[in-house]
Amino acid sequence: MHKTRYNALHLTVRIRPKGPLLIKAGGISANPALPDMQFVRTFHPDRGETVYIPGSSLKGVVRGFVEKALRTFDARDSWRWACPTFPDEAESCARRLQNETDTASVYRQSCGACRIFGHTRLRGRLSFTDFFPVEEVRTEIRYGVAISRLTHAVAHGPFEMEVAVSGTFEGHLVLENFEIWQLGLVATALAAMNQGLVKVGFGKNRGFGEVEVEVREAWVDEVVVNYHPERLRGLRAFVDNATAQAYGLFPPADLDLQNGPEFTREEPLGVYTRRVYGTQGWNELARLAIQAL
Ligand SMILES: [Zn+2]
Repeated sequence: MHKTRYNALHLTVRIRPKGPLLIKAGGISANPALPDMQFVRTFHPDRGETVYIPGSSLKGVVRGFVEKALRTFDARDSWRWACPTFPDEAESCARRLQNETDTASVYRQSCGACRIFGHTRLRGRLSFTDFFPVEEVRTEIRYGVAISRLTHAVAHGPFEMEVAVSGTFEGHLVLENFEIWQLGLVATALAAMNQGLVKVGFGKNRGFGEVEVEVREAWVDEVVVNYHPERLRGLRAFVDNATAQAYGLFPPADLDLQNGPEFTREEPLGVYTRRVYGTQGWNELARLAIQAL
């Protein structure tokens, strides 16, 4: 089934630090001229050396949020549960399903988090690009100490931390072959991040990592067959009942957009039709998807 691409969501997202934000470069700097904890940098073909937010960092925090949310349900006969994640834990989906060869059955038996983010035996549906500055990102040096939990004395420090304090990063999220509940969970996670419930990077208990999240543009692609502008079809709407059962796909099959957001344009892309939403359109779409959870 997953050799076919039935639907896809593509989000252009902007992230702005609301306070200090530190995505740490690996290790402690050996160069005394550089701060002990540096913001991670990479070489960008157009911009040269630049700070950035690796997609893997964002994926990690979004996954963490989704897992916590799903553990509050713990309903193992559905997608509403999360495994212990670490592949060496016997209860993790990766371990439990390591000898399962049928793709449909691996998906059906995996927890809700793994059905979105994947594990070693299952390809994830959601991917994040790296996020690069689109408006100059200003960094500052902050000083910190680590306090020993045992003695309450300074265990380490003071050390220097390079934090981003203003500016805008932009990047993309892509969700492919998604079910409606997966759209709802991704929308929930982005809203939670924007509300400061999901913090990004280092120093969460120092109050670092609060960010503003703005979806600038959302593309929803669906195969053109049976396309209807007032319905947004999840994976279940594209497959027959037997396939839906084999994969354990859950209702709702689609979202009713009759009184929903208006797209800014509709583009024919051969076998797909793309609907393009602006920030407000996405916010309304997100609300509908969250309500359907
Ligand atoms: Zn799992």
